[in-house]
Amino acid sequence: MNEFSLIEVFFKNPAARRSDVVFGIGDDAACVEVPAGYQLLISMDTLTAEVHFKSDWDAYDIAWKAVMVNISDIAAMGGEPCWITLALTLPDADEGWIKRFSQGLHAALARYNLTLIGGDTTKGPLSITLTVHGLIPSGLAVTRSGAKPGDKIWVSGTLGAAALAVSFLGDGKNPEAGDLAIMMNKLLRPVPRVDLAEILRTFAVAAIDISDGLAADLNHICTASKTGACLNRESIPVHPCVKKYRSDDAVELALHGGDDYELCFIIAAEQEKAFISMLKSSRISSTCIGRIEETPGLRMMNKTGKVSTLDPRGYSHF
Ligand code: ADP
Ligand code: MG
Repeated sequence: MNEFSLIEVFFKNPAARRSDVVFGIGDDAACVEVPAGYQLLISMDTLTAEVHFKSDWDAYDIAWKAVMVNISDIAAMGGEPCWITLALTLPDADEGWIKRFSQGLHAALARYNLTLIGGDTTKGPLSITLTVHGLIPSGLAVTRSGAKPGDKIWVSGTLGAAALAVSFLGDGKNPEAGDLAIMMNKLLRPVPRVDLAEILRTFAVAAIDISDGLAADLNHICTASKTGACLNRESIPVHPCVKKYRSDDAVELALHGGDDYELCFIIAAEQEKAFISMLKSSRISSTCIGRIEETPGLRMMNKTGKVSTLDPRGYSHF
């Protein structure tokens, strides 16, 4: 198959077309409608073989993950992901692989009502670059820079399971089969918190998605906002599998492991009550884990009230 028939067979999918796509794959550029009163959010992520995924993974999972990590960036801004473009570099035209990849891609896009509107296909070492385009009501994008001393730090879901899965991939130790499935699902099938977007737009003053680890990503908020932060060790929502298999350093894995794609967001103290009541009605689990402080840097308070410096290092893959 040549490049053009590959695109025609595997990537052009007229079934999955949003009504705001004027034209998509097949011309020199795609064209979409941006409704009045909205702004466009644009974010790109590359996944490289053996760095972000193992090349022996099912291509379906690779595509699914590539889509979800991109969508997660739009969710972290409080936006709605709409359209995606794909730059695919393949070592060869392995039709079986490309078919699985395109199945995962189209399933992931359908899950959040996104349309693939274009891309580029080239030969070289396996690499996947997606650019996701999203919409946000004008002026409401939630950036990293709005945190102020006294604001509360919140995080969605639980942390550490994806990094725990990565740690098991290499070391030959075997967790119980059911637990391994749960962890691998966290690693391969991250659930971007698109359903938090409206709450973020309404209440959050800053937000980030957790790709490199909570400490590293919270540190990005602090740097952009020119603040510091203090976390409560007891409040960090550690995934149950991490507690089970890493009794000594479970909290460390939750803080420094990556790939969770949960959101860390900042709520002003005076908004907290209204935020909590909207959060309750949405039934999305989120936890308050600390406060923004004036002094730069990250700190951690243990249950006896002792405060120590928290290293903002993130997890490094494989
Ligand atoms: P050009 O040479 O004008 O850049 P291409 O031949 O690269 O165009 O691509 C032809 C059409 O197919 C374009 O609309 C492009 O966006 C789309 N396309 C190419 N590769 C992909 C891909 N991997 N996924 C989706 N669309 C693609
Ligand atoms: Mg062209």
